[in-house]
Amino acid sequence: MADVDLFVIGAGSGGVRIAKNGGIAVDEFSYSSVPGIYAVGDVTNRVNLTPVAIREGHAFADTVFGGKPTAVDHGNVPTAVFSEPEVGAIGMTEAVARERLARVDIYKTSFRPMKMSLAGRDTRAFFKLVVDGETDRVVGCHIVGADAAEMIQLVGVAIKMKATKSDFDAVMAVHPTAAEELVTLREKAVSYQREAAE
Ligand SMILES: Cc1cc2nc3c(=O)[nH]c(=O)nc-3n(C[C@H](O)[C@H](O)[C@H](O)COP(=O)(O)OP(=O)(O)OC[C@H]3O[C@@H](n4cnc5c(N)ncnc54)[C@H](O)[C@@H]3O)c2cc1C
Repeated sequence: MADVDLFVIGAGSGGVRIAKNGGIAVDEFSYSSVPGIYAVGDVTNRVNLTPVAIREGHAFADTVFGGKPTAVDHGNVPTAVFSEPEVGAIGMTEAVARERLARVDIYKTSFRPMKMSLAGRDTRAFFKLVVDGETDRVVGCHIVGADAAEMIQLVGVAIKMKATKSDFDAVMAVHPTAAEELVTLREKAVSYQREAAE
């Protein structure tokens, strides 16, 4: 059995190093700077969400007690804001993609979902896909509107599988849904190309 100390965090926690982000500094296996002391969850200030904390806990148990070193992939975590309207997001924003990628294609639409129209409501929805213009990979998806959280959970599977815009386009729409917009976005709203360095 691995040698693990349970301890209460407080002033002077045995020399545990604090990262620049203010959390306990850990490596990809959640080892702190002090042997025998590990940290998972919000206290590490990586991605502060319940499922991430749970996943980090599982990985820690597999690594330290299961003899199976397991690192947690903190990339492309789907997130939601349960506001009115709801927001769902995964991956790069348009701004981040423009910083990181040589070519970026943006597809977006704003519309009144049919179920809202039928109910005589003026509630609208917004969808945006951020696509790497060189590889065609969908690197970000941003949804505002009813059920955005439910939708972004499923988009997360496609993005984790490195789906391309062509993969999205190859999927038949489910009509009449709001989510069908994800697979029927044909026109680029805007494209960005980074200037070649002198
Ligand atoms: C208002 C709010 C809404 C949120 N909504 C969502 C959401 O919708 N979805 C989502 O995924 N995440 C949400 N989160 C984030 C989520 O709650 C955290 O990411 C998650 O609880 C992290 O789990 P944890 O075990 O790392 O920390 P915690 O759940 O905070 O557990 C830490 C525990 O340590 C205890 N503790 C603190 N100090 C000491 C000490 N010195 N000694 C001993 N024990 C101590 C605390 O009492 C607590 O029980 C929300 C957070 C907030 C604040």
